Amino acid sequence: MARADFLAKAENTISSRLADVRRTFDNHIREVSEKIPGFSEVDLELQKAGQKILFSSFLGVEAIDEVRSEYEKLVSRKKDLLISNGYPEDYCDYKYYCNECNDTGYVGAKRCKCLKKEINMEILKESGLYTLAQKQTFDNFSLDYYQNNDKIAMENNVEFLKEYAEEFKPGSSSNIILLGPTGLGKTHLSTATAITVINKGFYTIYETAFKLFDNYQNRRFSYDSDSPIDLDKYYDCDLLIIDDLGTEFISSYTVSCLYDLINKRINMNKSTIINTNLDADQLLKTYNDRIFSRLFGEFKVLLFSGTDIREQKIKNNID
Ligand SMILES: [Zn+2]
Repeated sequence: MARADFLAKAENTISSRLADVRRTFDNHIREVSEKIPGFSEVDLELQKAGQKILFSSFLGVEAIDEVRSEYEKLVSRKKDLLISNGYPEDYCDYKYYCNECNDTGYVGAKRCKCLKKEINMEILKESGLYTLAQKQTFDNFSLDYYQNNDKIAMENNVEFLKEYAEEFKPGSSSNIILLGPTGLGKTHLSTATAITVINKGFYTIYETAFKLFDNYQNRRFSYDSDSPIDLDKYYDCDLLIIDDLGTEFISSYTVSCLYDLINKRINMNKSTIINTNLDADQLLKTYNDRIFSRLFGEFKVLLFSGTDIREQKIKNNID
């Protein structure tokens, strides 16, 4: 998805809310006008009085007071009519989802909080992390499964990634590679990093290496189709997270795609986080020295060590 589409989709959500508010308002007015004799007349008088208030600034102080008191009398007459007929007093008011922008999405020229939240929601849907968003956070990451030096190293990793995510700035945040055997929390912590960055409103994509290179392969063979697979997002996003590098189907084509992706993102000052179970030797053997020197020259290395958490959990359940 193109970056501008997030805003367009979010604005769409907000404007359908406003349409919903107006529809409910119209329905309530129609219902009450049919059921309560005299309601339509009071409502019409109220609208006229509202107009008068708008133009009353040209009048003298006394006249302004008079217009206001007439308006307030009509407001309380309208409330009385509603209450005495068994309706809540605000039954015929606009009930906005967001009272800060009245569901326009903007406060003055600035984006309202509700619009920003919707943009983040669209990014989250596109990120590939929608179902993990609640499960893998910094708050529910436990250090209980690490001992001694592993625990100290993990505390540092958690601290580093948390600060990285909270301070994330497109164009200046570094690249990171999380190195270590399986089951030590790399996926959990990189998901938590991604969610935090998304909540700050930055375009983040999370993809397993398997899916990423599968998409490259499929794009290669579907280039001429009407809807070729979107690879642009991997280059465009502010933060790209590649999970489980080394588990993809590896060919000279995928290796050259990986180099192209990493290299272009570095040249564009775009941040990338890579997780891998491969150690440095295996990375060098699996890919090539150009990729290797990019990874160890341009990425901050975080080492993960300890005993597989999943194995510990299984063992604890058996004991
Ligand atoms: Zn709002």
